[in-house]
Amino acid sequence: MDFMLSDEQRMLQDAVRGFVRKECPPEEIAACSKAGEHREDVWQKFAGAGWLGIGIDPEYGGSGGDLLDTVLVVEAASAAGDVIGPLFPTMCFGGHLLASAGSEAQKKVLLPELVAGRRRFALSLTEPGGGTDVLGAMRTTATRDGEDWVIEGGKIFTSAARSAHHLIVAARTSAPRDGKKAYGVTLFLVDTDAAGVAIDPIEVLSGEDTNIVSYDGVRVGGDAVIGEVDRGFYQLIGMLNHERIGTAALCLGWAQAALDEVLVYAGQRDAFGGTIDRFQSVQHSVARMHLLIEQARLMVYRAAWMQSQGLECGPEATAAKAVAAENCFTACDLGMQVMGGIGYTLECGVNRNWRKTRLYRLAPIANEMALNFVAESLGMPRSF
Ligand SMILES: Cc1cc2nc3c(=O)[nH]c(=O)nc-3n(C[C@H](O)[C@H](O)[C@H](O)COP(=O)(O)OP(=O)(O)OC[C@H]3O[C@@H](n4cnc5c(N)ncnc54)[C@H](O)[C@@H]3O)c2cc1C
Repeated sequence: MDFMLSDEQRMLQDAVRGFVRKECPPEEIAACSKAGEHREDVWQKFAGAGWLGIGIDPEYGGSGGDLLDTVLVVEAASAAGDVIGPLFPTMCFGGHLLASAGSEAQKKVLLPELVAGRRRFALSLTEPGGGTDVLGAMRTTATRDGEDWVIEGGKIFTSAARSAHHLIVAARTSAPRDGKKAYGVTLFLVDTDAAGVAIDPIEVLSGEDTNIVSYDGVRVGGDAVIGEVDRGFYQLIGMLNHERIGTAALCLGWAQAALDEVLVYAGQRDAFGGTIDRFQSVQHSVARMHLLIEQARLMVYRAAWMQSQGLECGPEATAAKAVAAENCFTACDLGMQVMGGIGYTLECGVNRNWRKTRLYRLAPIANEMALNFVAESLGMPRSF
């Protein structure tokens, strides 16, 4: 059993960490978070380093590498908060989905643009009727009209839509077959500025770019279909491990940044004639933060490694997401307690990361649903 990262992986991790330290100082992270915007110049520099191309074949302009490399990049970059930009939706829904399910023409045109930082992507799947039973709630349709398709419907919680150039939209194109609701859904690539697309912000706890997106008679050509007509949901299922492991990596980065901040703060804050880091209660909170993050990190790296080796790892990826979300949120919560009143202010980085990690207890799959899948993998009957 080898738990060591390779020299190349350590260099990659160090390089992204160095980039974050240099380009994304704490005051910039706070400013971008407050504005709900990223810094386009930093996004461009990040792309210029080739990191958006991790996991993408060099044939399409990518840097190669596997999911563990992606995890290292996402984890290190998430400490930058919102400064770099919404890299995860682009790397996962743009990069990985297009690379695995896109047509040759889509890959040739879009992947090099993505890698160069000129195109960003967002996934528009969840509808107002529900995200866990996403197929049961899906009302958005796409209807053929000659060579074209016309999309009609609406989505909720589409992250990064305001800064994206393309939306990946799931729409029903046929009725379910043999009782399988997953059949009959198609994925479409829709430009965010296409006629009939309306994007309305939703205010959320973490202040991120989150939106309602309406599709009012949006017309796209046949070349906008990603993968096979009616089989789009199966293509999304093929991407689930990436999504779960990647979002777990985001949580690791936020919780680690919180721990780093708490360590500094506890060494500077005075109470009763000395710094608070001499109190056992503070030390235990900091130690627990570390243990929670390490526990989650082991599960996330193992799941990423399994996926990279081509091993079946659905339960491991799902468990890694659930544990990372719970542990990292708890770690940030402990950190807020150590920071006292300062931890409760919105400018505080630990507070910001507490808000960010909170989301991943309910998204992209709610942790209750993750537990359903884990129970099923242990041989228990499907509960839903
Ligand atoms: C800030 C934010 C960003 C998001 N970004 C995106 C995005 O970019 N693209 C996108 O498509 N979606 C996105 N989502 C949607 C997200 O994936 C859903 O919110 C999530 O899947 C949960 O769905 P829901 O909110 O409809 O909750 P519901 O499905 O209504 O669930 C409500 C509660 O019921 C529980 N529950 C439901 N079914 C079961 C069951 N079978 N067993 C046990 N418990 C159950 C859930 O665990 C939860 O606690 C985002 C959401 C948020 C809040």
